[in-house]
Amino acid sequence: MDGQAIRAELGRIVGAEQVIEAPPGSEYNRDASGRRGLEGRAEAVVRPGSAEEVAAVLGWCYAHDVPLVTRGGGTGLVGGAVPTPGSVVCSLERLRAVREIEPGLWRMCAEAGVTTRNVQRLARENGLLFGPDPGAAEQSQLGGNVATNAGGPHALKYGVTGAWVSGLEVALAPGELAALGGWIRKDVAGYDIKDLMIGSEGTLGIVTAVRLRLVPAPERTAVLVAFARSREDGCRAVLELFAAGMRPSVLDFLDEHALALGAGAYPPCRALAGAAGPGADGARPPAWAGFALIVELDGTAEEVAAQQREALEVLGALAPEVHEPAEQQALWRWRDGLNPAITSVRGAKVSADVVVPVEKLGATLDGFDEIAARRGLRSCSWGHAGEGNLHATVLVDPSSEPELDAAEEVMEELYELIAAGGGSIAGEHGVGLLKRGRLARQWTAQAVELHEQIKRVFDPKGLLNPGKKLAR
Ligand SMILES: Cc1cc2nc3c(=O)[nH]c(=O)nc-3n(C[C@H](O)[C@H](O)[C@H](O)COP(=O)(O)OP(=O)(O)OC[C@H]3O[C@@H](n4cnc5c(N)ncnc54)[C@H](O)[C@@H]3O)c2cc1C
Repeated sequence: MDGQAIRAELGRIVGAEQVIEAPPGSEYNRDASGRRGLEGRAEAVVRPGSAEEVAAVLGWCYAHDVPLVTRGGGTGLVGGAVPTPGSVVCSLERLRAVREIEPGLWRMCAEAGVTTRNVQRLARENGLLFGPDPGAAEQSQLGGNVATNAGGPHALKYGVTGAWVSGLEVALAPGELAALGGWIRKDVAGYDIKDLMIGSEGTLGIVTAVRLRLVPAPERTAVLVAFARSREDGCRAVLELFAAGMRPSVLDFLDEHALALGAGAYPPCRALAGAAGPGADGARPPAWAGFALIVELDGTAEEVAAQQREALEVLGALAPEVHEPAEQQALWRWRDGLNPAITSVRGAKVSADVVVPVEKLGATLDGFDEIAARRGLRSCSWGHAGEGNLHATVLVDPSSEPELDAAEEVMEELYELIAAGGGSIAGEHGVGLLKRGRLARQWTAQAVELHEQIKRVFDPKGLLNPGKKLAR
């Protein structure tokens, strides 16, 4: 069936005005990864207005053997929402209803197309917290967060998206709506199908609504930026904080290269410890800094004050200078601004989100720098130190094919290093197209086989986001 016929048929389900073409260059053919060659070509983009319409679209595609790629906000970084040839993109942008919010019971049910920022905002307005905070929250959607099991800085204390999901409404092949989980706070009755859907990147079904279990928002937060002289000291400080029994809500890092690239835009801070002396305003990242930690502490006012004292004590000689931002939001904006700032240095970057056991973070950073230097590329890393989760990056000239080739080789070698160290090729951004076929390196053959069998059970025709999240 050609594109025109597909569009006409789908128009009968959702209304002709909600089925559009996706010519080359259309945003629906890409995601936020911006990687070389990662642009697809959809036969049609369909924008259902209800869960029932989503199920009907899936049913039609299944009956006519048309591949279906679900799209949330398109902020994914691994090509997960990029349409493979001949496929229909099912965009959930019109599923924007918040079906239920019960502040006293700490819960909310929202449709998949509600943006992450709106979920966070609504929770806050009701005295509650939705912990996941991936960096493109204005654009990413709740369904996309579930489909990628997204994290973000606060995942350290509050868990990734899956930890917040009490139930899901999903459209499953060959075209039915199912409710998985519910409002119950525990359930061990069967295999956890809901959890299988979480992080499945649109390869097992389509999430249409999410029941979230929220928590009361902390009364107060404090943010510290701690500077260590070396990577070794910085990574030791992370372990010391844990060994002291501390539970920061955020424990992010910047290596010395990322710090140098971001230093110019560093927001106004006050020194809490270090050469400038406690209380000095206008503190800047020290020139000697070889590693920076961003530590957020939360709780009641008294708990935060006590944690701050303890953190300063533990960081001690390992991080001789510690700052407190004049405005916490400015610090987070600076942190979010690192990505574009680093990209602009040479026009592009190639990044990989990988994760290792937390005690191996320092050695992994060293190994990555060595791999990049051997291929003549400038590297930098930042990420979530408390989880051993690094966004390993090389800076490239996007017009240089040899540099782009070298960058791909760097990432391949990094994945070997990660697998050898007991880590994973995806900490929070998923597998999509970019990292497919590499699970066999870190899993046993039987686990890989089970992974493939699960896909076949949910999607016997292989039409749901084909070619994505493949194990081998
Ligand atoms: C600047 C920036 C910073 C980021 N920071 C973080 C971070 O800190 N932590 C983090 O985890 N991620 C981060 N990301 C990655 C991305 O934002 C998250 O993965 C986000 O959860 C993707 O949501 P989305 O709605 O944009 O999904 P999309 O990009 O549209 O889709 C992602 C995948 O999910 C599938 N999908 C989407 N919606 C559904 C649905 N309703 N049902 C079934 N499948 C679906 C798609 O098919 C695709 O495979 C960042 C991205 C950017 C651009």
